[in-house]
Amino acid sequence: MPKSEEAVQMGLLIDYEFCTNCHTCEVACKKELGLKPGEYGIKVLEDGPRRNPDGKWEWNYVPVPTSLCDLCEKRVAEGRKPTCVHHCQSGIMYYGPVEELAKKMTGKPNMVLYSK
Ligand code: SF4
Ligand code: SF4
Repeated sequence: MPKSEEAVQMGLLIDYEFCTNCHTCEVACKKELGLKPGEYGIKVLEDGPRRNPDGKWEWNYVPVPTSLCDLCEKRVAEGRKPTCVHHCQSGIMYYGPVEELAKKMTGKPNMVLYSK
């Protein structure tokens, strides 16, 4: 018998190498979850700028879903993508079964995979 949809663990894959810190995902998420100012379902964190021993600069923006993220349960139940994935200005967010997302990230640096 095939695994039921409920049994498949879903997640978000973010290719943060190309995140521009535009905050669109944060805003879309706040609207979807009806959050107040200062509350976040996803938050873009900044690492850097700082210089590594090899002389290269490190400066990353890494979006991190918070404990308020429900993977857009309502939208997904209606057959739609999570709103952060839909609105990401750089098209670097993906939603799907974690197994498939893990395959997608193979061989590509600077990606993060989140699950609930
Ligand atoms: S999946 Fe939905 S709830 Fe989770 S971070 Fe994205 S927009 Fe927010
Ligand atoms: S919408 Fe996309 S590019 Fe913009 S901050 Fe979020 S993850 Fe980064």
